Amino acid sequence: MEKHYQILIIGAGNAGISVAAQLKNKDKSLSIGIIDPSDKHFYQPAWTLVGAGVYDLQKTVRDQKDQIPKGVDWIKESANDFLPDKNQVSTLAGNIYTYDYLVVAPGIQLDWNSTPGLLETLGKNEVSSNYKFELTEYTWELIKNFKGGTAVFVNPATPIKCGGAPHKIMYLACDYWDKNGILNKTEVHYISGGTVIFGVPEYKAELEKILLKYNIKPHYFSKVSSINGLDKKIVYEQKDNEGKIQNHEITFDMCHFVPNQSAPDFIKQSPISDPNNPYGFVQTNNETMQHPTYPNIFSLGDVSAAPFSKTGSAIRKQAPVVTHNILQMMQNKSDFKKYDGYSACPIPVANGKLIMAEFDYTNKPSMTFPFDQSKPSRLMWIFKRYILPWLYWNKILKGKA
Ligand SMILES: Cc1cc2nc3c(=O)[nH]c(=O)nc-3n(C[C@H](O)[C@H](O)[C@H](O)COP(=O)(O)OP(=O)(O)OC[C@H]3O[C@@H](n4cnc5c(N)ncnc54)[C@H](O)[C@@H]3O)c2cc1C
Repeated sequence: MEKHYQILIIGAGNAGISVAAQLKNKDKSLSIGIIDPSDKHFYQPAWTLVGAGVYDLQKTVRDQKDQIPKGVDWIKESANDFLPDKNQVSTLAGNIYTYDYLVVAPGIQLDWNSTPGLLETLGKNEVSSNYKFELTEYTWELIKNFKGGTAVFVNPATPIKCGGAPHKIMYLACDYWDKNGILNKTEVHYISGGTVIFGVPEYKAELEKILLKYNIKPHYFSKVSSINGLDKKIVYEQKDNEGKIQNHEITFDMCHFVPNQSAPDFIKQSPISDPNNPYGFVQTNNETMQHPTYPNIFSLGDVSAAPFSKTGSAIRKQAPVVTHNILQMMQNKSDFKKYDGYSACPIPVANGKLIMAEFDYTNKPSMTFPFDQSKPSRLMWIFKRYILPWLYWNKILKGKA
């Protein structure tokens, strides 16, 4: 089968639905197709809260059919191949879709199998991950039932979605253990591929105080080489001051693991992947979100190679740019909007307290509220816990925020 759309979108996640809805809001007559095989749509930012026992998992998932904007064709298939010179995408089902404009937004791939031992032990043997819908409640089980000992939290060396999520759950766990008399019988290790706890100095300074408060031992420049759930051993390599690699091993009683991540394989192998990006993300102009070789292809969200921090809040600023720039091109105009790299990372540091980190490409704070957002705040917790999920389902996915 072959079908043509004015605008074809790959991925009906946060990014794909936002752009589809905004385009339709601007012009109902547009013919738009959106390719996505998933029956379900997930609000992933709340998975940290589910893992900490303060949010209902079922509230993070809805039927995809109810999220597709009115008048948009949902093509329930997996995109598989690109022929950008022919404006053509083919799917695993063998169908061919052609387009005037293409929006590429299939998210990021979780490479669970790239760490030896991880798949065998994930979801059992006290190893969990908030990066998997089905495991978020197991994370809470582990935190709640922990009686003291050694807790390990892993942040990989690759780019990931929500750079804060590997340590957010660590602070919420520590807060719970502190309030229940467990923290003083616990050693907490943070094994991180990063070089610091947070890239923006103003937020980093506050988070370093939190690390001290909970007596967390960070191990930066580190990469997990294997995990054995039965023996409860995690092995990681760490670069020392002279750049030499040292191997270390920790025996743990519970582990929260964030896997290595990269572009989905079908993107890596495609002509739109950035040849200079080791993870295969889509080549994207940092400001216009346009592909430099194929100007009728745009990319946004987690799959883009532009160097923003991969979050839903970044998408909230990218979607209007992509929408506007496509409409400009359709009218043969070139008054393009530009994205400034804005991203936000709401970092809960205790149950009821949150640092709302906002920043842009310059790595400088870009705060929305009229107070110092680097300080833990009750108001920001309420915003994350109650207001953001409502905004997501009712405004962002409707193209109205
Ligand atoms: C634990 C956790 C905590 C987070 N916390 C926050 C937070 O506090 N704040 C924040 O802003 N962000 C947070 N995020 C990040 C946020 O969820 C993502 O950045 C956002 O969902 C990315 O949107 P996307 O549309 O690019 O990808 P997704 O929303 O992941 O959607 C991708 C879509 O593409 C589809 N797809 C995949 N392959 C194909 C294919 N071959 N063909 C067609 N469709 C395909 C998938 O089915 C999916 O529907 C968090 C994420 C996690 C996991």
